[in-house]
Amino acid sequence: MQISSITLFLSFSAFIIYDFVNVKAEFVEKSKKFSKTIGERISLPIKNNRRRWVQDELFKSLSDEKQVDYGAVFSTDSTIFAFYDNSLLNGDAVLGDRDVIEYITNDSLALANSEFIPAYSTDSYNFKVWKNYFEIYSEFYDEGNEKKLGTVFLRYNLKNFTSRYLRYLLAFLIIFFTASLIAYLISIPLQKKVSQPILALATKTKLISFANDYSIRIEKNTTDEIGILIDGMNNMLEEIEKRRQYLIKAKEDAEASAKAKEQFLANMSHEIRTPLNGIIGVTDLLRGTTLDDKQENYLSIIRQSADHLLVLINDILDLSKIEAGKLTFTEQPFDIKSTIDNVFSIFKKNIEEKKLEFIVNLSDDFPESVIGDPIRLNQILLNLIGNAIKFTLKGKIEVIGSVINKTNSKIKIEINIKDTGIGIPKDKLKEIFSKFTQVSDDNTRRFGGTGLGLAITKQLVELQNGGLDVESIEGKGSSFRFSLWYKIDTLSEKVNANEKLDINKSITKKPKKGRVLLAEDNEINQMIVVDLLEQWGYTIEVVKNGKEALQKIMRKDFDLILMDVHMPEMDGYTATKKIRSDLNFPKKHIPIIAMTASALKGEAEKCLSIGMSDYIAKPFEQDKLKQKIEKWLNILPS
Ligand code: ADP
Repeated sequence: MQISSITLFLSFSAFIIYDFVNVKAEFVEKSKKFSKTIGERISLPIKNNRRRWVQDELFKSLSDEKQVDYGAVFSTDSTIFAFYDNSLLNGDAVLGDRDVIEYITNDSLALANSEFIPAYSTDSYNFKVWKNYFEIYSEFYDEGNEKKLGTVFLRYNLKNFTSRYLRYLLAFLIIFFTASLIAYLISIPLQKKVSQPILALATKTKLISFANDYSIRIEKNTTDEIGILIDGMNNMLEEIEKRRQYLIKAKEDAEASAKAKEQFLANMSHEIRTPLNGIIGVTDLLRGTTLDDKQENYLSIIRQSADHLLVLINDILDLSKIEAGKLTFTEQPFDIKSTIDNVFSIFKKNIEEKKLEFIVNLSDDFPESVIGDPIRLNQILLNLIGNAIKFTLKGKIEVIGSVINKTNSKIKIEINIKDTGIGIPKDKLKEIFSKFTQVSDDNTRRFGGTGLGLAITKQLVELQNGGLDVESIEGKGSSFRFSLWYKIDTLSEKVNANEKLDINKSITKKPKKGRVLLAEDNEINQMIVVDLLEQWGYTIEVVKNGKEALQKIMRKDFDLILMDVHMPEMDGYTATKKIRSDLNFPKKHIPIIAMTASALKGEAEKCLSIGMSDYIAKPFEQDKLKQKIEKWLNILPS
């Protein structure tokens, strides 16, 4: 209906425009001819200055022309020579009525009574449809066109002209409404047949996409084109549903296999870490005994190989977590400076061995405490500082920290690790962030490594919405710069100061020697820990599982528990929960350090959330274990 109305309207408009142009042209032509004829008729009397004749002639010519309202003859000096006003004639004025002619001829009187007095113009005509008139100025000449004698002026009213178009409009409206009515009447039965099924179809498709339920089918009541359309839609829905089911299954399979892979990697790494723990622990114990140079050398090779294997396992595990999108970041208050100190203490021995200078330079506004993931920052720093030390043979390593952005609640820090090492060729700068990429095979032989560290570091930074860049000059040194956003820790550091690990403090303070209970089922691990703790002057007792630990602690007093997480009969989690909930003060608050070789995601967080005080991953660095024990014994009330 809308389309037919628009079509009707457009064709009507086109017709009107066409008609108007034609009629107007005809009208102009006709009036030009007429005014010319008048001009010819009055040329003689006007030449002889016979005003009355001219007036007569004008009257004779115009009195039958009902459309002409006013007429005038202008002489060459542009004044009115003769004048005609149709309204002054009364309806019954006829040719030969002398009174009327007299009346008109007395032009000054006529002009005075007329509502309209024409003004001379050089225009040839004015067509004013909206004002309802048409004026024409037609100059006339002496015979032979030599001399202008005057100008005939006529003013037509366009009543006929406009009433023609009003009639057209009326006709259009009648046609329009009749056509619409007919179209509507015809559409009623059609609507039942065509529109309703289509509307029903549209409603169903909306429902399907809204409910995301492709098992819905559209009912079919006709066998015509609509029926065919419904069949087509139903077939399509069936196909979509089939594919959806297939995709859901494929996604579930992929997720299951990713989970299986992660589980496998976690299990394997646990399995590999446990013997590695033994190798590293026993190697360190052996190092403490008297050895000749050769034996010392063999031992350091064993230790290096074990370390290498450990890094490799951690890297592969991290990478698989990153690729599975499973890496999560914790948010907890921590001290960035302590984290840097911590990393330094791990590499202290290497730095001293290589006689490198190690400088930490933090800006004055560098925050003490922030909220974020300390473990990931530790990992990033370990990688970058580790590389800097590894690839620097002499000179210095500088860690420069600054604040580059700050809002009310967040702070963006930048840490730049600069070294004076071997540097990286320009063409390799981009590649070093790719997995398993090293600058050269020669480097691999000289310095070792897996080529995974930077790939992981970059991901760790970027997953926390930060950035990592490198600048390097071959032979001169490199600078790895990363930036990270942290939340500002509004609680004063004082609150957490006791909780935080401060390496220097714990190293310098003499720990109070204490009574330690070790819950561990693996005999090699038992041996390593017992040996170490005895070396450090602690009293240590060993139990094989959580149950025994619980019984032991109920009967005897201890200052600290080192608790393996995975043990037979009762695991470390359950034992910790029972200690925290079932025992009385002060035993229920005894510090418990979890020890686990499990690399499952969130292990540390899980231990802390269950109520353990701290966490150490196996295989552990001796120093690290020592620091943790000292930390927890130091803060015991004396
Ligand atoms: P890896 O150190 O285990 O080989 P990374 O991904 O950490 O693996 O580093 C990749 C490569 O980038 C290194 O093998 C080394 O060639 C180069 N590289 C990284 N850091 C430095 C550095 N500070 N100085 C020189 N070369 C570096």
